[in-house]
Amino acid sequence: YMTPYVRYAVRHPLTQNFPRKFKTSFTGSPNKDNIMSAIHDLAFIAQIKDGKKGFKVLVGGGTSIMPRLAQTLYDFVSIDDYLSVSEAIWQVFDQAETLRKNRMMARIKVLIDRIGIEEFRNLVENEWSNIGKIDPSPLMATDNIYTETPPLPTKPRRTPKKLPEAFSNWMATNVESQKQAGYKIVYLTVPQGDLTKDQFFQLAKVCRIYSTGSVRTTQEQSIALRWVPESLLFDLWKDLVDIDLGKPDAHTISDVVSCPGTDSCKLGITSSMGLGKAIRENLILNATNDPQAKKLHVKISGCPNGCGQHHLANIGFHGAAVKGPKGQIPAYEVFLG
Ligand code: SF4
Repeated sequence: YMTPYVRYAVRHPLTQNFPRKFKTSFTGSPNKDNIMSAIHDLAFIAQIKDGKKGFKVLVGGGTSIMPRLAQTLYDFVSIDDYLSVSEAIWQVFDQAETLRKNRMMARIKVLIDRIGIEEFRNLVENEWSNIGKIDPSPLMATDNIYTETPPLPTKPRRTPKKLPEAFSNWMATNVESQKQAGYKIVYLTVPQGDLTKDQFFQLAKVCRIYSTGSVRTTQEQSIALRWVPESLLFDLWKDLVDIDLGKPDAHTISDVVSCPGTDSCKLGITSSMGLGKAIRENLILNATNDPQAKKLHVKISGCPNGCGQHHLANIGFHGAAVKGPKGQIPAYEVFLG
């Protein structure tokens, strides 16, 4: 259902000159928010109601200098209606001329903040009543390039008598079961989100052997290999270790997320990658065994814009500048909770 949305939206006249950017997310999982739905302008969360497929619809989320959690626009919109609701929402956003006065405030969350979700819903329904049903099925055909063939579970190449502790640690934090029996999702720990060109080529080889030949980047600055046969996990781990991508502790406190900051972003005030590296090294050096502490997330943005998702962390930092004796010096604001 995301594919028809994209195809319908991309060249739609309404989406060509929005007041500003508009981010949409979809998830097929009603019980686990794996898309950060609350920080998107528009989010669709799959639901089934009375045997009918549809979505819960959230609007108006965002971070940056005005963080807002998306609010529920509808608890359920059927698949026959989600494209027409989308068009109605685009219409309301596009017509909000007041948003065009200040680029910094030209987001749908600002409109909803000003008029309230009830009034926003009224505006959407007014538009929606003029839009007929839009059937997504003609837009659903998937290009062959996206068809994936999972590898067959085959005999492992290596079968150690005793599994190394490092492998068990990696299994505990970097491997998740798929709903398809016998297959796993493997997350790679990628410090600072940096891969070398050699690692890229080697990773391409690895994912052709153990996965579908493609990988996904994740919102947690990790790389996910899907459809990994359970029987090949040890072989995969060994091959990942050889290219320095077999580190454990994905999605734990030491797996610090940071935006590029001053390394490459012209808006950066501070070296968020530098701070991320320093915190990670320190956390590894002083490793905690407290399971609750290990679950914490540290995220860093090099300025208040929040690309490092500092709003969504247990411990967040954003770059700032403070007055020093000889002028401004880089600093951080710290967010807890
Ligand atoms: S948070 Fe700021 S410094 Fe970091 S990538 Fe975004 S704009 Fe650049």
